[in-house]
Amino acid sequence: MTSIAANLKVIRDRIQSACSRSGRDPSSVCLIGVTKTVPAHIVRAGVEAGLAVLGENYVQEARAKMEQLSDLPIAWHFIGHLQSNKARLAVESFDWIHTLDRVSLAREVDRQAHRQGKRVPVLLEINVGDEGSKSGAPAQEARSLLDLASSLDGIAVRGLMALPPYEDEPEAVRPYFRRMRELLEELRQAAPRPEELTELSMGMSHDFEVAIEEGATMIRVGTALFGPRLT
Ligand SMILES: *Cc1c(COP(=O)(O)O)cnc(C)c1O
Repeated sequence: MTSIAANLKVIRDRIQSACSRSGRDPSSVCLIGVTKTVPAHIVRAGVEAGLAVLGENYVQEARAKMEQLSDLPIAWHFIGHLQSNKARLAVESFDWIHTLDRVSLAREVDRQAHRQGKRVPVLLEINVGDEGSKSGAPAQEARSLLDLASSLDGIAVRGLMALPPYEDEPEAVRPYFRRMRELLEELRQAAPRPEELTELSMGMSHDFEVAIEEGATMIRVGTALFGPRLT
């Protein structure tokens, strides 16, 4: 077994345990392998070991890998900060966009989706820790961003994404994950299509179990799968 296959097995076991603890079905949690800085041949080993969904942060880096891995059935999720001038390529290349965090970007993604004849599934990124250094809409603006984004038929708002403050102790992140779940519930009450608003993308290598216990439906795991990034 390659080390990636071994890591994947450990992570699947940990997902399973977190699900049993919280009475959830493991199939309700999508594992996204985060492959930023990971070379294509290693990503290939991950897919051969069983990864089906990958997350990338940079459009150009991702497109190079997509080309080298085009023979594999991979769903690509964009999880990095998206500049409006990259929206065209992002819509062209990715199956999901997790980081819709402002009205101007929503309009641009919608415009590109129309040009390409698509309806793009997106998540609204929320700056749940109100950190100046991070992108994401303030939680207080989630409702107005949802209202605007829901009126654009080139995008399908499917839920929320967050990158909470880093804490050494994963338990310390729990209140942020919980806040995200509550926010999703609040938004569902007001959403024009609540049945579409089901996803919570949250939890990374060191805190995904807590995220699952608080309702994550997509976890984004890099280092626990591929090892430390050499950057
Ligand atoms: C890099 C990254 C991850 C993965 O982080 P790890 O700690 O390596 O698991 C998840 N989400 C986002 C948005 C990232 O940029």
